[in-house]
Amino acid sequence: MPEATIESVLQEGRVFHPPAELAASARIGSMEAYRALAAEAESDPEAFWGRLAREHLHWFEPFDTVLDWSQPPFATWFGGGRTNLSVNCLDRHLDGPRADKTALIWEGEPGDTRRFTYRELHAAVCRAANALRALGIGKGDLVALYMPMVPEAAIAMLACARIGAPHSVVFGGFSAEALRDRLIDGQAKLVITADGGFRKDKAVALKPAVDAALADGAAPSVEHVLVVRRTEQDCAMAEGRDLWWHELVDGQSADCPAEPMESEDRLFVLYTSGSTGKPKGVVHTTAGYNLWAHLTFQWIFDIREDDVHWCTADVGWITGHSYIVYGPLSNGATTVMYEGAPRPSKPGAFWEVIQKHRVSIFYTAPTAIRAFMKSGREVPDQYDMGTLRILGTVGEPINPEAWMWYRDVIGGDRCPVVDTWWQTETGGVMISPLPGATPTKPGSCTLPLPGIAADIVDLEGRSQPADAGGYLAVRRPWPGMMRTVHGDPERFRKSYWEHIRPADGSWLYFAGDGARRDADGYFWVMGRVDDVINVSGHRLGTMEIESALVSHPAVAEAAVVGRPDELKGEGIVAFVTLEAGRSGDDALMAELRGHVGQEIGPIARPDVIRFSDALPKTRSGKIMRRILRALAAGEEVSGDTSTLEDRSVLDQLRV
Ligand code: ATP
Ligand code: MG
Repeated sequence: MPEATIESVLQEGRVFHPPAELAASARIGSMEAYRALAAEAESDPEAFWGRLAREHLHWFEPFDTVLDWSQPPFATWFGGGRTNLSVNCLDRHLDGPRADKTALIWEGEPGDTRRFTYRELHAAVCRAANALRALGIGKGDLVALYMPMVPEAAIAMLACARIGAPHSVVFGGFSAEALRDRLIDGQAKLVITADGGFRKDKAVALKPAVDAALADGAAPSVEHVLVVRRTEQDCAMAEGRDLWWHELVDGQSADCPAEPMESEDRLFVLYTSGSTGKPKGVVHTTAGYNLWAHLTFQWIFDIREDDVHWCTADVGWITGHSYIVYGPLSNGATTVMYEGAPRPSKPGAFWEVIQKHRVSIFYTAPTAIRAFMKSGREVPDQYDMGTLRILGTVGEPINPEAWMWYRDVIGGDRCPVVDTWWQTETGGVMISPLPGATPTKPGSCTLPLPGIAADIVDLEGRSQPADAGGYLAVRRPWPGMMRTVHGDPERFRKSYWEHIRPADGSWLYFAGDGARRDADGYFWVMGRVDDVINVSGHRLGTMEIESALVSHPAVAEAAVVGRPDELKGEGIVAFVTLEAGRSGDDALMAELRGHVGQEIGPIARPDVIRFSDALPKTRSGKIMRRILRALAAGEEVSGDTSTLEDRSVLDQLRV
């Protein structure tokens, strides 16, 4: 853990105001309205959260305490209350016109489509929940999901929530070993999977990985495997263990009373992306998570009755949990789920989905936006995306040039961009513009949401002055915060609560990001503190140097790391991928070094620039600088690489 704070070198002065007609009808339509909510939260946080929980969730039993923080860092919320996430997402929409509103639009990669109204989704979830009960799954039994992006993934999640069985969704692109580790760690009793899914024009098998994960009794807690038929490829079924979804689920009753869950009953376990090391099994609980997914979705996307919301994440990540499934459905919104990805045969796949389903809110990741920039605006320009009104981004810091491109080319220079900073651990978005209220600046996630006491601090927890870099921390608990690391409360305390130790003994949540706050109070994430580069005593974040590189027209994507340097402490090594049609040579290298020198100063000029076709990323699309650091120093890549997307990238980078 580095000691000093971080220096900021990037200058970005552009400001974009919310469109007047959006602000006029927005739920939070001005900075005054935002400040009023934030002030309410500040003056009495418990009254604030209590009010929102009563107004926004259905309760079988009202809670009698809002927050118990008597044993920090372990919080409990809404004690004494009973609620159920699937009731909040489904049953409560069935009384009025929403019953026949489309809840879920699913688009398969080959172009097949399925739609569910709220009434239909409710029935499907009840059948699945009854099937789980028939398999002996009850309250507290962990169910693992290893699924393609098919409606049954969302249905299974909601069915688990309905009967009080926590789920653990494991991204369908992970290997059998990664799945096995997570099944063992969670002591899963049931695995729900599919024969396969469609990905980049191929039927990709999934079930064999489940078989391999369970081979030789490696995960003895697993009693059954429930298999959705999707691709219809050959699929071995183990007698007595494996069952087909359609054979078990379709005949069940569509009536299934929901289990009244205690607020703090475990809702799900989900592992972090593994950008910085071994993934952590993050535990979220029922009421607090539900409230936070609900509120953040409503605030950030200014959701309206006729919106069509599409989040491109996989349900295997927290973004998929909170903003494909739970946040939208809890609000009675229409949510889109897409099985496929842009691919050589269909580079405009995303834009086609937007055009076909008249998507109005689009939420994706910087890695995707940079890839679209690389292939040029000619692709999106072929589609009608006039229905869009709000764009969102999440997952990594977004470089200002990518932000501008997103706003101009995808949003027609009309849609506000909400850059949402959050983590698996935080359950929902923490820092983000509100589209009808907050003026935005490219590259800044702007201001904390009401109730979120985010701050930039030093290691003693002292707030840092404007424009000084520091640690991005949260001073007060919030309902959606993770409760513990599954099976390892000590790791929870150590990973998040022990780096920053204020003299007054108060508790600050800190999960690894460095940031600064400008004179307007806007937050600028500068990268992971583990990745900070120390050049001649200057501590530089990765994001700013990378953004300077990306602002050069030849550069598509950049990752910078430090490597030991006798004179300077550390030298800067940049790994760069180029726009289509550009080739990396000495002249371009000199030009890029000069460009960074000009944009942010000579101190940030890379010593070495290495051009490559691709960068090492996690399966969720984040750059793994830890691996590049080892390569730049000429060391063997060690530590956990199980979450790496494409191992062949490593071999390319080694030469
Ligand atoms: P691990 O914790 O296992 O290393 P991870 O941190 O990548 O993995 P996630 O919880 O998926 O796992 O990602 C959260 C992190 O993603 C944040 O801590 C931050 O570094 C980055 N991030 C997410 N959204 C943004 C954003 N809008 N701007 C900047 N960074 C972001
Ligand atoms: Mg993390």
